[in-house]
Amino acid sequence: MKNIILITGGSDGIGAATAYLAARRGSTVCINYRQNHAAANKIVTAIREEGGEAFAFQADVSDEAAVENMFLAIDRQVGPLTALVNNAGIIESQQKLVDMSAARLHKIFATNVIGSFVCAREAIKRMAVKVNGTGGTIVNVSSTAVKHGAPFEFIDYAATKGAIDTFTLGLSKELADDKIRVNAVRPGIIDTGIHGKAGEPGRVDRIKAQLPMKRAGQPEEVASTILWLLSDEASYITGALLDVSGGR
Ligand code: NAP
Repeated sequence: MKNIILITGGSDGIGAATAYLAARRGSTVCINYRQNHAAANKIVTAIREEGGEAFAFQADVSDEAAVENMFLAIDRQVGPLTALVNNAGIIESQQKLVDMSAARLHKIFATNVIGSFVCAREAIKRMAVKVNGTGGTIVNVSSTAVKHGAPFEFIDYAATKGAIDTFTLGLSKELADDKIRVNAVRPGIIDTGIHGKAGEPGRVDRIKAQLPMKRAGQPEEVASTILWLLSDEASYITGALLDVSGGR
């Protein structure tokens, strides 16, 4: 049976690297994105030119109706989903809590936490053996920010990832008997555009000397870990939180 993987936030950074690698290894990839249609289409085209199968689906994961419609579109256009990578995530500008508005907190929790919950819910409806699915795998993308809390920068973001870790632990137990494994990767400092979007394009260069390996990670290094967790090589692993952080 063909693997059909939905990667949320698959148009950039870690999600895009995961999409490329998954397609090269023979999976059909569904690339979700929020707004950057051109980036998503570019990846779909590149994968197809290499002989792979890829489709782009626009949906803001913080919008429940949009997520439901995306899953219905995947059912119709691609086929039965076998894996979900809950990767879409945002950080806002660097601030202390004392300056954070409730609107900011609602947005980041709606995207990073509720978006992952709702995407997982829709994937389970299609993969769980108790609802006539054939099983599957979910990988949630957390962060090593859970270990230090990202003070003075993004404690809201770190807290959303703490929620993702707890979500992973609980959901893995809910679904173990449904032939769905649920794990999380926790990247450290990875060289993607997310740092610039938060207002500090040079953040990776500023921090990398403080890291044990003296370098940032590359998105492909996270992608290969995600794909390993999705694969049968990780068949007895569920509820794991795996750091991909160069020792941080
Ligand atoms: P990125 O390069 O900024 O890419 C983010 C992706 O998510 C884009 O495809 C973006 O699509 C999509 N996205 C954002 N909001 C969305 C929404 N509401 N609905 C659907 N898609 C949405 O980010 P990244 O660095 O690869 O990060 C990916 C994941 O890894 C995130 O969960 C992040 O928290 C986590 N992480 C990253 C690092 C790091 O250092 N980079 C470290 C730890 C954890 P559009 O461009 O269309 O908006």
